[in-house]
Amino acid sequence: MESNFLTVFLSPLTYHRAKGNISVQGIGTMASKDRLMKFKYRLFKPDTTEFFKRLMRSQNWSGEELAAWQSERLRRLLFNAWEHSPFYHRRFKEAGIHPHDISGPQDLHLLPVLTRQDIRNHFCEILARNVPKRFLKPSTTGGTSGIPVRTLLDRRVPHAALGWRMLSWWGYGPAVNIGLVWREVDASIVKRALTRAFTWPSRQVRLNASAIDAKSMESFVRQCERLNVPVLHGYMGAVHHLARYLEMRGGDYWRPRHVWVTCSPVSRPHLEQIARVFQAPVLDQYGSCEVYWIAAQCRYSTPNLHLFADARLVEVTDSRFRPVPDGRTGNLLITDLENLAFPIIRYAIGDRGRLIPGKCECGINLPLMGPVQGKNVDTIQLPDGTAITDINVIFDDFPEAVNAFQVYQDCAGNLEIRYIPANDAQKTLQAVRIVRERMQKAVHGQIEIQLRAVEKIPHRKGKLQYVFSEFKGIENTRTQLE
Ligand SMILES: [Zn+2]
Repeated sequence: MESNFLTVFLSPLTYHRAKGNISVQGIGTMASKDRLMKFKYRLFKPDTTEFFKRLMRSQNWSGEELAAWQSERLRRLLFNAWEHSPFYHRRFKEAGIHPHDISGPQDLHLLPVLTRQDIRNHFCEILARNVPKRFLKPSTTGGTSGIPVRTLLDRRVPHAALGWRMLSWWGYGPAVNIGLVWREVDASIVKRALTRAFTWPSRQVRLNASAIDAKSMESFVRQCERLNVPVLHGYMGAVHHLARYLEMRGGDYWRPRHVWVTCSPVSRPHLEQIARVFQAPVLDQYGSCEVYWIAAQCRYSTPNLHLFADARLVEVTDSRFRPVPDGRTGNLLITDLENLAFPIIRYAIGDRGRLIPGKCECGINLPLMGPVQGKNVDTIQLPDGTAITDINVIFDDFPEAVNAFQVYQDCAGNLEIRYIPANDAQKTLQAVRIVRERMQKAVHGQIEIQLRAVEKIPHRKGKLQYVFSEFKGIENTRTQLE
């Protein structure tokens, strides 16, 4: 313990020793805060520190070392699923496969694919029976497809370490101050205080992505300026909205050193606008609520991302889930090598992407993938210029209430939220009531909101377009400011 304490707390540049990774923070105040942060984790969450150390080693492993590690972790995952998850046991049996038949990632194609519908229909069966409840953390999403899904994360996996590693690629320690444009639904004072304590000594300036208006953006930018926040982080749509606002508004404003976007496809014009407004590189991170931290850009890999291949496996397949050659775009299947509690094996996440052959000039050996395609940037604008940038997650808290949903905004700005009810009518009614209340609160009576049960939601080009708007309201933001 003592030597660990000395290593973490007194060694100023421990964090920045990764090959090809030179700190931009130096050993001033930030480094002290980073040491304090790591000391806190060492005391209260030592697993995070250990996992982080391992990740910093494994990112430099050779191809053979990485493949050996992946095979070992995959076998651990498969045997655990076979022995303790009734769903996987049955599925593997039906496919005539035993975990002994899988020697590594190259054999993954022999295993059945896990769909969103599978997760919805077999949630309890998927859960591994050998994991105590205290290790389970619920996670919900509707974000990429309009089909809400509930999964469980394994609390034994210290996800923070994966984030620390990504920040290290950009030259930051774990205590970096972040300007966060994120979803905050009914966050209580207690919850906020806990978040503050959890993230201390780093500071987070928050802008609620659920209702962004000129006033909240001004306050956010002022606070970021005051704290000299170097990283702006948020949903692509929300960050883009902020950038558009600042560009229209002009004048002087806070500029972060890096912009970190996530949860949407990277649209080139949007990226360029964000980079132009903030005069900072825009770095993309790919992950989902089902599997956090799948890939992220380093400072040199643009527009490609390093796969977190020492913790996740990513396959690219055709429409029938057969492997496609490297470099070709296809459907992404994700396997989470760490989550033993709720095994995610060959999960059809609903995104498209491609693997990029070759190495990145940063020196990190993790393989590369191209930018993820297939998600939409979804923002609903209100007549007074307020933006709702997290419209895609309105049913996240009630994944069992609806089978799918779609949000339509007409040219007058009014919203119609169409949903396909799930089997439990009581749950659906309750969810619809709460979603309506939340939405009405967010729009301040400016527009009408209707929730309508439907039998079918039409697809466009084979994909559910779950948010679309015919209302053109962005110019109102300027009017409001003036
Ligand atoms: Zn790189």
